[in-house]
Amino acid sequence: MALVPTMGALHDGHLSLVNLAQQHADHVVVSIFVNPTQFGPGEDYEQYPRSLRSDVEMCRQEMVSVVFAPDFPEMYGTKEQARHQYITFRITKMTEHLCGPFRPGHFEGVLQVVNKLFNIVQPDLAVFGQKDIQQWFLIRQLAVEQDHPIEILMGPTRREPDGLAKSSRNVYLSGPERKAAPMLFQALQRVGNELEKKGTLEAIPVDKAIISVEVKRLGENGFNVEYFSVVSTPDLQPAGTIEPGQTYVIAVAARLGKTRLIDNLILSHKDFQNHDA
Ligand code: AMP
Repeated sequence: MALVPTMGALHDGHLSLVNLAQQHADHVVVSIFVNPTQFGPGEDYEQYPRSLRSDVEMCRQEMVSVVFAPDFPEMYGTKEQARHQYITFRITKMTEHLCGPFRPGHFEGVLQVVNKLFNIVQPDLAVFGQKDIQQWFLIRQLAVEQDHPIEILMGPTRREPDGLAKSSRNVYLSGPERKAAPMLFQALQRVGNELEKKGTLEAIPVDKAIISVEVKRLGENGFNVEYFSVVSTPDLQPAGTIEPGQTYVIAVAARLGKTRLIDNLILSHKDFQNHDA
């Protein structure tokens, strides 16, 4: 049995994870829970789009076996009990870069809720999207370190025809912002092409200039870039060189108006479970 955890407001990206899960399991459980503990103060917990009815209908059409849509008390107990939760996750190294510094406490909240979901649902495998790649590596590490006998699969990022990664948060974009948004993926692709073009037979330095050109261009087009980095996997540390046979991630996060967009590319899919092919 497979689990696909989501926060609802389902789109094709979520459904592609369901389809991937169905290829590997007889039954698929989709969880829908907007988890308060992964939102920081001032983030969009209240505004986050919620559409349970149509989400359930989409799941029905996709032949999902079970939708698990708990309310707050089902996950965290009464308000009083929630106030007296003393055990939290502490993450080292893997949240030092990328989204970690910009969203303090976020990944601790993610691991808290995913750990609970794993214990409640007890799936054989779970599918998460490449879109949230730092989350993916952290969850795979969670499964290893917390002895969850669960295979963690990665589903490729689903995109709009113009390349923008699908996201429940894209509804926040204004008309002009939506038009500009695909530039993020285009910037990633240019950096990816530059790095791949150099070949992988020997270690090559990551040329900082390639990235700063893109950060500048994004800035000129209204993006406020939080980070644009090449990191090694699975430790998610900044990579000074690209070594043959290793897997790297080029990742970017930027604000466009009030909306925070993230996207990434994997350089070489070799070393880990990816059913993208
Ligand atoms: P969310 O509901 O945003 O928490 O996402 C639930 C799951 O869907 C996570 O594993 C995400 O990585 C994944 N996901 C979100 N957007 C996409 C996308 N565009 N393509 C594939 N998976 C996605």
